[in-house]
Amino acid sequence: MAQKSPSVLRMLCRGLIRRCAHCGEPGAFFISWFKTQDRCRGCKLLWQRNTQGFVLGALAINFVLTGRLILS
Ligand SMILES: [Zn+2]
Repeated sequence: MAQKSPSVLRMLCRGLIRRCAHCGEPGAFFISWFKTQDRCRGCKLLWQRNTQGFVLGALAINFVLTGRLILS
């Protein structure tokens, strides 16, 4: 039986506190604030999708928020 996927809101909240979005394992992907590992320690979810532009959304959001903070 397949495990039910968590809601989008729950996944975002888990990401904000550095937990795995899928299983909620604390510190699952992050070795430190700036270093990640390939798979979750709890559910073995692959972090990198190996597609170009995968981190582009995160970089764009980071760029906009940083620019907004500097200019405000
Ligand atoms: Zn996980």
